[in-house]
Amino acid sequence: MGIEDRFEKSILTTSVDSVFNWARRSSLWWLQFGLACCAIEMISAAMPRYDIAERFGMLYRASPRQADLMIVSGTVTKKMAPVVRQLYDQMSEPKWVISMGSCANIGGPFDTYAVVQGVDQVIPVDVYVPGCPPLPEALYHGVLELQNKVIRYDTIAKKEGSDQAEAFREESRAEAQAALGPRR
Ligand code: SF4
Repeated sequence: MGIEDRFEKSILTTSVDSVFNWARRSSLWWLQFGLACCAIEMISAAMPRYDIAERFGMLYRASPRQADLMIVSGTVTKKMAPVVRQLYDQMSEPKWVISMGSCANIGGPFDTYAVVQGVDQVIPVDVYVPGCPPLPEALYHGVLELQNKVIRYDTIAKKEGSDQAEAFREESRAEAQAALGPRR
């Protein structure tokens, strides 16, 4: 009997990245803030009927420094955009963004001088959830899509520096924008 046979039932080989990504995927902590009516659906998703927090190991945090997920739920006004960017910058790497609802995705019905026509003009977005407002089930779907991205996350910041990580995110943002279709 070789040593492989002896340990085959009790040893699992994997990479550190895989273990970390598995842990990250299973414990996305999101920043607690909402911008408009979509936030009500996000709150509803966190309440007992939908229970997004318990099901996905997600917790909402009051500090960006303890959060690795930003859910932009609602209309991003030009006055609010610098605050959104600042909160994003205060989150530690690696971090992800879900744009929830038509307003955050493309400005929604507000094609006006006061509204940013898509939060991706301010921060990179990983997943877009469509709808006005999206139901909690749609946010569920968005979180599952994000989990599929997180599990493939390459710790590029560790290997190649934060500039390269930002370039990677910009690339990812362009892909997400392409999926969104032509802009108005
Ligand atoms: S997408 Fe609709 S529900 Fe969501 S913030 Fe905009 S107007 Fe409100």
